[in-house]
This record gives sequence, structure tokens and C-alpha cells, in this order.
Amino acid sequence: MKQVKEKSIGLAIALNLLLPGVGYMYMGKVIVGIGALLLVLGTFAARADYVLPAWIGINLIMAIDMLLLGKKNQKDVASKTLKKCPRCAEMVQKEAAVCRYCNTIF
Ligand SMILES: [Zn+2]
Repeated sequence: MKQVKEKSIGLAIALNLLLPGVGYMYMGKVIVGIGALLLVLGTFAARADYVLPAWIGINLIMAIDMLLLGKKNQKDVASKTLKKCPRCAEMVQKEAAVCRYCNTIF
């Protein structure tokens, strides 16, 4: 089973700022990360006067994407560690023997 770990979105965004695409690699999206890195490097190589706006634009897009990925990551983590109580439908820890909301015994 693939282990799902909680990832830090702040760290992912910081990594992308440092070196575009690294945040993606950190989030497990290696191909997208390499693509973003090549895109920025390509911009650097093509025209120097594009670099700053392109770099800011790409980072903005990546930051939004990181937030979306982070939400999905949190959901994955939750689905691995939580279960739904059959009586009150609240999410409780998978290992719980008793629902903390309605005291149902599992
Ligand atoms: Zn319950």
C-alpha cells in the first residue's frame, strides 16, 4: 500500500520559488515539475526581458496548483486515517472503538 503523508504546502510553494518545479516534485508530480523547470529555463534562454513576468506568472499558477494539490493530499490523508460513523455520519479515527460524537461502539 502506498503511504500517504501529510505534505507542507508552504514548503512546496517555497521550493517552487527557489527553483521552479521542485515543489511539484516534492508533491509527487515529478513530470509536471520537470516541465515547469524546463519552461522557466526555456524562458531564461529565449529572452531576458520576459524572465521576471514569466517567473512571477508561473509561480502564481504553481502556488494555486500547490494549494489544490494540498487539499487533495489532506483528503487522501483523511481517507486513510478516518472512517465515517454509521450512526451519526461524523468522521472519526479509523482505530477508534467508540464514536466521539455519539458514543456508538464499533
Ligand atoms: Zn457517531
